[in-house]
Amino acid sequence: MAIVTLSDVTKTYPPADKNATVVTAVDDVTLDIEKGDVFGIIGYSGAGKSTLVRLINALEPASSGSITVDGIDITRLSERELRRVRSGIGMIFQQFNLFSSKNVKANIAYPLKLAGWKKSDIDARVTELLAFVGLSDKAKAYPEQLSGGQKQRVGIARALATGPDILLADEATSALDPQTTHEVLELLKRVNEEQGVTIVVITHEMDVIQTIATKVAVMEGGRVIEQGDVFDVFSNPQNPASQRFVGTVIKGVPSPAEAASLRERHDGRLVTFSFRDGDSSQAQVFLDLANAGLGFELVYGGINDIRGRAFGHLTLAIRGTDAAIDAALSTIGAHAQVTELEGEAR
Ligand code: ADP
Repeated sequence: MAIVTLSDVTKTYPPADKNATVVTAVDDVTLDIEKGDVFGIIGYSGAGKSTLVRLINALEPASSGSITVDGIDITRLSERELRRVRSGIGMIFQQFNLFSSKNVKANIAYPLKLAGWKKSDIDARVTELLAFVGLSDKAKAYPEQLSGGQKQRVGIARALATGPDILLADEATSALDPQTTHEVLELLKRVNEEQGVTIVVITHEMDVIQTIATKVAVMEGGRVIEQGDVFDVFSNPQNPASQRFVGTVIKGVPSPAEAASLRERHDGRLVTFSFRDGDSSQAQVFLDLANAGLGFELVYGGINDIRGRAFGHLTLAIRGTDAAIDAALSTIGAHAQVTELEGEAR
C-alpha cells in the first residue's frame, strides 16, 4: 500500500530578479512510496531532492500536481489540517537542528509538549526513546557535550517522539564520519524494521543507499529519471543520465580519466563486462575469449554489495583482430552486459 503518492508534481520558484528565469526545482514527478519502504532519493546537488522532501512534508505547497500522504491529499488542506499531517511525519537533518540551550531530555520532549502531552507521559516516552537510541545515560547532557553520532541519535529520538508513520532523513549522515554513519544507519534500519516506520532518505552518498534503502529514485534537473528496486537500478541502470550518476558512485566502473589512464598503460580494446548476483557468466566470458584465441588481461574491476546481493564490473584489455574481438563480444553479449570504453585502442 502506498503511504506517499506524488502525481505529476511540479514546484517552481519565481525568478530571483527581472533578468532571471523561473526555477523549476521539481519537474513533473510521479512516484509511490510503499508503507514499510526505505526509499532513497539520490542525485547530484541541485537535482531537486530537498524541494521534493519539503513538498512531502507539506512545508511548501506544490505548484501543480497532487501529493497524497497516508491517504490524504495534502495539496487541498487548510493550514490547520496540514499541521496534523505534519505531526505524522518526523524529520532529521544534516546539521541535527537540536536546541543548544536544552538538554537531551528537553530536546526529545519538545514535540510532545507541543502536542500537549501530560508530564508523566512525556517522562515515560522520553525514557523509552532514550533506551531505543542507546542514550539512556545522556538525558541531562547538552548537545555540545555529544559527538555527531550521538546528536543524530537525539535527532532520531525527537523525530520519533510522537510516533510518526514516516521519517524523512535529509542528508542525515552527510556530516558524520564513516564509522558513525554506519551506526546511525543501523539505528535507522531498526526504526524501519522494529517500529514499522517508512523512511525516505535523501542523500548523495552511495553507502547510505546500499546499506539501508529498498527502493530508490534518481533525480536530475528536477525530474525523477529512474526509479525502482535498489539492486536493479544500481546493477543495471537504464537511463543514460542515471548510468552516469550510478557510474560515479559504484565500484568497478572506470571514470573517463581512469579509462584514459588505462588506455595509456595497456594495449588492446578496453571492454567492461557487468555481472549480477546469480549469473554464472563470469567464467563463460573468459572461456569465450580464450576459445576465440584472443589475448586478454584484467585491468580494472570491483564488486558492490547491496543488502547481501552482489554485482560487479570487470574491465579487460583484449588483444586480437577487430573481427575476432567483435565476434567474441557478440557471443558474450548474449549472457553478460558488455560496454566497450570509448576512445581509440592503442
Ligand atoms: P538538492 O536538494 O537536490 O540539492 P534542491 O531541491 O535544494 O536540490 O534545489 C533544486 C533547485 O531549486 C536548485 O536549482 C535550487 O537552486 C532551486 N531552489 C531550491 N529552493 C529554492 C527557493 N526557495 N527559491 C528559489 N530556488 C530554489
